[in-house]
Amino acid sequence: MKGRKRRTHYTALSPTVVLCPQCGEPTRPHTICPKCNSYRRREFLPPSMRSEDEIKSLKEVEKANQQKNKAKKKLALQRNKAMKKLALARKKRAR
Ligand SMILES: [Zn+2]
Repeated sequence: MKGRKRRTHYTALSPTVVLCPQCGEPTRPHTICPKCNSYRRREFLPPSMRSEDEIKSLKEVEKANQQKNKAKKKLALQRNKAMKKLALARKKRAR
């Protein structure tokens, strides 16, 4: 029996398990603990369990972040333009 050995390496790996620092329950790493909904000692509720107010505030935070990002992009664009102008001016002076 020499052939047909490729699939002999198909094997189920045992999942990595860590103990939740909050409640000591075994959980997957980098995952919210299913028992106490905590991750890195902070509590996170799944979206289905969040209250409307919380969802609202989260949306507001997201909006604010988007606006911030927009402002940042604008600033970066302006800076880019200014740098280009400077570079052009320098080139002209060099001639
Ligand atoms: Zn836990």
